Amino acid sequence: MAAVSRLNLQRCFHKALVPGNMGIKALSTLNVTSNKNTVEQRRGYAAKAFALPKAKYGGRHTVSMLPGGGIGPELMGYVKEVFRYAGVPVDFEDVAIDPNSEGNDDLEEAITSIRRNGVALKGNIETRSLSPDVMSRNVALRNELDLFVNVLHCYSFPGITARHKDVDVVIVRQNTEGEYAMMEHEGVRGVVECLKVVTRENSERICRFAFDYAKRHGRKKVTTVHKANIMKSSDGLFLEVSRYVAKEYPGIEHNDMIIDNCCMQLVSNPHQFDVMLTTNLYGTIVSNVICGLVGGAGLYSGRNYGYEFAVFEPGTRNTGTAIAGKNIANPISMMNAAVDLLRHLRLENHAQWLSEAIDKTMNDDKIHTPDLGGQATSMDIVKNIIEYLQLKTKVENW
Ligand code: ATP
Repeated sequence: MAAVSRLNLQRCFHKALVPGNMGIKALSTLNVTSNKNTVEQRRGYAAKAFALPKAKYGGRHTVSMLPGGGIGPELMGYVKEVFRYAGVPVDFEDVAIDPNSEGNDDLEEAITSIRRNGVALKGNIETRSLSPDVMSRNVALRNELDLFVNVLHCYSFPGITARHKDVDVVIVRQNTEGEYAMMEHEGVRGVVECLKVVTRENSERICRFAFDYAKRHGRKKVTTVHKANIMKSSDGLFLEVSRYVAKEYPGIEHNDMIIDNCCMQLVSNPHQFDVMLTTNLYGTIVSNVICGLVGGAGLYSGRNYGYEFAVFEPGTRNTGTAIAGKNIANPISMMNAAVDLLRHLRLENHAQWLSEAIDKTMNDDKIHTPDLGGQATSMDIVKNIIEYLQLKTKVENW
């Protein structure tokens, strides 16, 4: 079964290699202006990027729930409890994935469930096998569903003490290729090669998404993060495409920064960044640096989009095995993922109530778990959120 999935992954890359069967090297040296699509067609990439929610039956939505490992299952339990109190018209279809499995039956089931429901809430799925033939389930899932966009909005919470105040940065990360191709081999004993895949088509649709996002959300600047001074063909292509797309958005300032300098700039002056546009690996590095600066792994949500499906999860994709079952995991990152899910389903009132409950709990009541320097338990936070929701639903429905 592992071989099946690896084939599927390769099929994904080959689908992305356009036009025809042109090799990676030839693609990377393609001039972006040679794209035969019209500007309208290419703009369509950005417009299509938000997957529409599937139809609801009997007034209720069905959402796939993939708890994953570590703290995932307990965080999902909190979301279900909060949704019950808020009267959210969502039913969850639970799909557990065995982390020790060498096969992919569970993964196939999860993918089928998301294809059916169109949307999922997800924890980090563990892949314990060390065999190079068994790929990361998280990566395989994103590739199979073509979730090419990852968006992480990182902002300061006024009630949380952090190294920097008033940070407000959006990271738009390419989510399906680059350094996560998982194509490694040992051609000669002791010499391992690892393939980094950057395609013009995937670069163009993520760049277009980032600029379109900036325009729609009133943001002023997009910064492309790269290492094109060393990886001149692969990162060079990504940078070239971003400069080309930037020309279509004259109202948005565009600059670029090398990943190592970018990390230093983030730590010393994060306020210079607005929207950051990155390849896959740099995206996870930048996300973890910013989250670390403003509050850690327990606060932010991440959104994964393709043309057809959407998956919501904690932003830094941690498993948190060491803190699982101790009632100390910060539930806010999964609660924020639930807010994103509700907005995606156009359940605006429920999203607003939950978002206000999070804001009140973190910033006014300052109920904080140990990762934020507090002494509260996960349940203390969940109870506070539920109390607010009970108050809100009574008043709103009165
Ligand atoms: P593991 O904890 O699974 O053994 P790890 O040490 O690599 O692996 P990650 O899961 O990557 O940890 O998480 C990184 C750090 O962030 C860990 O210290 C983890 O405890 C912490 N962390 C992650 N999520 C949360 C959360 N929701 N609340 C509190 N701490 C968290």
